[in-house]
Amino acid sequence: MSAAPAPKPAPERLDLAGLRAEFPIFAARGAGFHYLDNAATGQICRAAAEALLAFETRARANVKRGVYRLADEATQAFERARAEIAAYLGAREAREVVITSGTTHALNIAAHSLCARLRPGDEILLSRAEHHSNIVPWQLAGARVGAVIRAIPLDDEGRLDLDRLDALVTRRTKVIAVTHCSNVTGAVTDLGKLGEAARSVGAVLVVDGAQRVPHGPVDVQALDCDLYAFSGHKLFASTGAGALWIRRELAEELPPFLGGGEMIRRVTIEGSTFAAPPHRFEAGTPPIGPAIALGAACAWLAGLDWARIHAHETALLDRLLSGLGTIRGVRPIGPAGLQARAPLVSFVVDGVHPHDVCQLLDARGVCTRGGHHCAQPLHDTLGLEASTRASIALYNDAADVDALLEGLEEVVRRLA
Ligand code: PLP
Repeated sequence: MSAAPAPKPAPERLDLAGLRAEFPIFAARGAGFHYLDNAATGQICRAAAEALLAFETRARANVKRGVYRLADEATQAFERARAEIAAYLGAREAREVVITSGTTHALNIAAHSLCARLRPGDEILLSRAEHHSNIVPWQLAGARVGAVIRAIPLDDEGRLDLDRLDALVTRRTKVIAVTHCSNVTGAVTDLGKLGEAARSVGAVLVVDGAQRVPHGPVDVQALDCDLYAFSGHKLFASTGAGALWIRRELAEELPPFLGGGEMIRRVTIEGSTFAAPPHRFEAGTPPIGPAIALGAACAWLAGLDWARIHAHETALLDRLLSGLGTIRGVRPIGPAGLQARAPLVSFVVDGVHPHDVCQLLDARGVCTRGGHHCAQPLHDTLGLEASTRASIALYNDAADVDALLEGLEEVVRRLA
């Protein structure tokens, strides 16, 4: 008789206490602090906070200009950060990464630089799930060249309805700009189909990755997109820096958006020529310290066990969705299942304004967000003015979710 196979070792559990210890705010605020507004901004990790403080207090100088050693060190640290961000995104080369002040700045660069190539009647295809920062820049830049904005509708779960893509993508479509993950429903977009559609008509695919990157590294090559934007403050770095990845061949062709110092080759009163990317898109002094902090966050995050973190975040999402389902008068928005969904949930409490929900939750130490979340077209589609959102990050635990659910029971008891 052959020997029974040795039992597989149980998968090691996530060291949540160790992970939380890497985020100084938890020790600073102590017990009873339940931060569930991660989709608005994540808490800063120690690696980023230390890198920021070290730069600002021990190594501060402007970049790309001085020839003294301190300035050279600052430039090297800044360029190292660019390389760390590029690695987190799976970019081929660091020079494909433009340092911005965040997603909004990045998407404004994308819109204004790409629209400069469009003709009247050309079409920009967005979706109804977009954050305003992936709508308004296209409206502003598109109006200048007479481009037309069209929108992908949503299905009953709030996902992009890609069944109607054939009718929406035509030879006039020059840009498709969509979110990788909705900041209201958590739905993750099937970028494969959109990439294929974009290729079939020679359009460019722009992706708003603001809500996707806090849940692990991405691979922009595999995503088959052309531009990818995100904010550092949602990726556990400081406020003030983000990035725009632009595929190299495209970046070489695109005109700059903002003009000023450090983005030029030669300036005369009659006209200017521009530096190569990424510097062409980085007019003026960049957010040096925040970019260095973002690089440090990317390097630290890249070393984590994301399979385990993903399982942890999904278990918390499951706990949250199941719990919400048991509270009378609470209606979650978005996909019912856990597949292709980030760990964030928006919901409506019948008869109670989201701001009142948030205030009562805050009295219990639970931080959530109420409002339209800068996604009015999405709320319009769902027939809502506003909602309350709870968003989970890698450091959250079951106590955070349970505190929210207990708080909601009280909201319903007292206000509904
Ligand atoms: N896109 C999405 C999906 C977002 O959730 C946000 C912020 O909430 C943004 C863009 C804008 O990010 P920022 O304000 O950091 O520029």
